[in-house]
Order: sequence, then C-alpha cells, then structure tokens
Amino acid sequence: MGGKRKKRTKIVKVKPKLPKTFECPRCGKIAMTIKIDKVDSGPRTAHIKCGNCGLCTDIDEVRPIDDEANVYGRFLDDYLEGKLEIKDCRESENENHEDEGEDSELPSETN
Ligand SMILES: [Zn+2]
Repeated sequence: MGGKRKKRTKIVKVKPKLPKTFECPRCGKIAMTIKIDKVDSGPRTAHIKCGNCGLCTDIDEVRPIDDEANVYGRFLDDYLEGKLEIKDCRESENENHEDEGEDSELPSETN
C-alpha cells in the first residue's frame, strides 16, 4: 500500500461566471432561471421558470448551502420522477388572452 498523498489545496479565486440559465427538461432550451429566496434562516424556496415554454415550479426546503446549480439538480430529479407540481407562467400574459365571457343562459321557460 502506498503512502498518503499530500493534497495541496490551492486557493484559486477565479470563478467562471456561473451560468444562471439552465436547460429546460420540457422544451430543451437553455432558458430556465432559478431564483432562490433570500431569507436569513430557515428553509428557502427556489423559484424556477423557463423563459421559453413557461414551465415554472417552486422547490421547497432549499438549504442555505445550495446554489442555483444544486437546486437545478434537485429540480431535474423531482421533475423526472413526476414529483413536482408544474405550473405555467408565461412571460407575456396578455398575448393571446381569449377571454370567453361566461354566458349564463337562463333557461327561459315559457308556459
Ligand atoms: Zn421550457
């Protein structure tokens, strides 16, 4: 058995810009944004939204050490397992707003 290998921890502070957009498992576009609630303590909630297809959902119990990439990983797992409640939040809400007025036709009974 060999000896212990010394691990040298280099402190490199070159952090490449983390992509804040992720691939959407539904439409396949890299258009998902993740926003984690900023709270001082307690579990956080992350809001995930796809700018392309409008998929959006919330991830609960985000730990303070989790970043967007972690949340995305959890989201993918849960999404694929069908655990998530997927909502639709389109960016532009008044695009094709077909509002069908509710016509309550009272049956007119003529006697
Ligand atoms: Zn999408």
